[in-house]
Amino acid sequence: MSTEPEQAQSGAPQPQADVRARPAIVVLGSSGLWAAQRIKVLLPEAEIWGQRQRLGEEEAERFFSDALLTLKSLFQSGRPVIAVCAAGIVIRALATSLTDKSQEPPVLAVAEDGSSVVPLLGGHHGANRLAQRLAEGLALHREAGSHAAITTAGDLRLAVALDEPPACWTLANPQDYKAFTAELLSAPKLRLGLLGCGAGADWLHASSLAFEASAPLRVTETLAAGAQGSAQELVYIGRRICLGVGCERNTEPQVLIDFVGAELAGAGLDAHALAGVFSIDLKADEPAVHALAQHFGVAARFFSGAQLETLSAYLRTPSEVVFAETGCHGVAEGAALAASGTTQLQQAKIIGQGRARGCTLAWSFAHQARDPRNPLHDGFSLPGAAQGRLTLVGLGPGGQSWRSHAAQRALDLASDWVGFKMYLDIAAADGPVSAEQHSFAIGEEADRCRYALDLAAQGRDVALVCSGDPGIFAMSALVLQLLDEADNPAWRRIAFAFEPGITAMQGAVARSGALMGHDFCAISLSDLMTPWEQIERRIAAAAVSDFVVSFYNPVSLRRRWQLERAKELLLKARPADTPVVLGHSIGRPEERIQHLTLRELEVEMVDMLTVVCVGAASSRQVVQPSGQTWAYTPRGYKPRLTDDLSPEETA
Ligand code: SAH
Repeated sequence: MSTEPEQAQSGAPQPQADVRARPAIVVLGSSGLWAAQRIKVLLPEAEIWGQRQRLGEEEAERFFSDALLTLKSLFQSGRPVIAVCAAGIVIRALATSLTDKSQEPPVLAVAEDGSSVVPLLGGHHGANRLAQRLAEGLALHREAGSHAAITTAGDLRLAVALDEPPACWTLANPQDYKAFTAELLSAPKLRLGLLGCGAGADWLHASSLAFEASAPLRVTETLAAGAQGSAQELVYIGRRICLGVGCERNTEPQVLIDFVGAELAGAGLDAHALAGVFSIDLKADEPAVHALAQHFGVAARFFSGAQLETLSAYLRTPSEVVFAETGCHGVAEGAALAASGTTQLQQAKIIGQGRARGCTLAWSFAHQARDPRNPLHDGFSLPGAAQGRLTLVGLGPGGQSWRSHAAQRALDLASDWVGFKMYLDIAAADGPVSAEQHSFAIGEEADRCRYALDLAAQGRDVALVCSGDPGIFAMSALVLQLLDEADNPAWRRIAFAFEPGITAMQGAVARSGALMGHDFCAISLSDLMTPWEQIERRIAAAAVSDFVVSFYNPVSLRRRWQLERAKELLLKARPADTPVVLGHSIGRPEERIQHLTLRELEVEMVDMLTVVCVGAASSRQVVQPSGQTWAYTPRGYKPRLTDDLSPEETA
């Protein structure tokens, strides 16, 4: 990464196709290839992911080096996984990632010889069906056949899991499920009655059930609290209540939660019927609104004042005061209507009392139950925009092994990646990418930051991808400076996060020993944003203070003399044989470490991907018999550590 616009051009965003739905066939070695290739024929949309060390160039479409990490990241990004390996490997890889079974993609383990197909996870989200389909396909090529090891009871004949409805429905009487299915399966004909079920009952229609009003067993959808089902009736709460809320700035979250809880209960509604929490975009960063949504396990979505105003004709309690403040005549009512997609309010605005007097709510029913989940990249299945998020992600200097789990997770969850093309390629090299990628040519970083801020302000979950650490001569500071100077209200409502990365000098020093064993500093030689006189003053100060100094941006295409000048300044205060480490392309395949002395340092030795680490006066080298050289800076000022130690300790 350069902090300089070497070529003043910023590329246009390049959206990418969503790959989330494509199954990944993961193959660990050539013995699994046969099954993988048969599966690929059965599922042409699937992608073969192969272990780089064990497979040839032509044998897979994507390559990885760490199987466990790859299985985990494919799973976390929501892609169906078909792993041609022992089930135990898959279980070990995913064990720590298992959280919400309603959101998990199908995961299958397939024996290398194709004999067994085991749906491990997501049995009710297609894994069982997929396993049966693969086993049937594989059996055509195997004399001994192939078997789908279905372990979930009940649904084999029904082809639907009545105890695991889609996320927009909640089964209110799971205790009756067993008796209900037993009765259903024992009947000569699989028929069900549907009561109050609207368009949201599509998942039932995909089953092998017939629907007849007169059937003795029935399924009911309700919004009411306390609905009692029975062994003859399964009751589902459909998420159809669109709750509109408003509150004063910094309302205590619990106050809003209690207010909403009490009003829903008072109206006899079940909180599981909430489709989401909705408000005006001015409240997109209101902690109480997010706490409310989180409390009820739904998403918070926001509309602009102008969007809400289009519904003013349908408000029951329009207010001029609210209009003057927000640009719409009613926040809670308008948001409820906008969310439900109807023009009818089931509950007009209620203003809170006592501690809740700054809070308002209203609700409207959507025709169809809604998925309440809130990954921001869920295809925006709920109306309105989410609160935008901008995460500054540090990749570290090279590949995935030096990347923090938190940084990887931010990448996995983001709806959009913004960054210099080379960094997006590095980020994408070891795992599947579900995010839309907006790659820029090297150039004006402020443009990249503005672009990322604008995208986040639209409600996207944006990862602004930097090499090394985003806070070290990189974009975190630029983003905050833009935020500080621009006074842009939409930017100010974004949720920011910063995920650190290993910076270039740490990488170079780690590869070459321990040069930062004592006090150190980092200086960028780029005079693009800082006047050279100031840089020179800092180098001189670092020289006389005897800091270990790492120089970032030692050269650029047009700028070459500064390193020579820095060397002169340092030589005034430290010996000519001070160890110097040049770290070239650290963490990348072309990585190279050079040990030399300050006297030997020449500008020709460095390029834009070099970090120059100069030792302090006390720094030295230790060389192993093999020739391996390490540079280090002693921890203290005593000439020799061993002088201090007792004879026992040195023995
Ligand atoms: N945020 C980055 C620094 C960006 S400034 C970080 O924390 O590492 C750009 C400079 O960083 C380059 O000119 C070079 O001096 C250094 N640099 C970045 N990546 C590097 C790498 N992989 N190997 C060596 N130096 C690197």
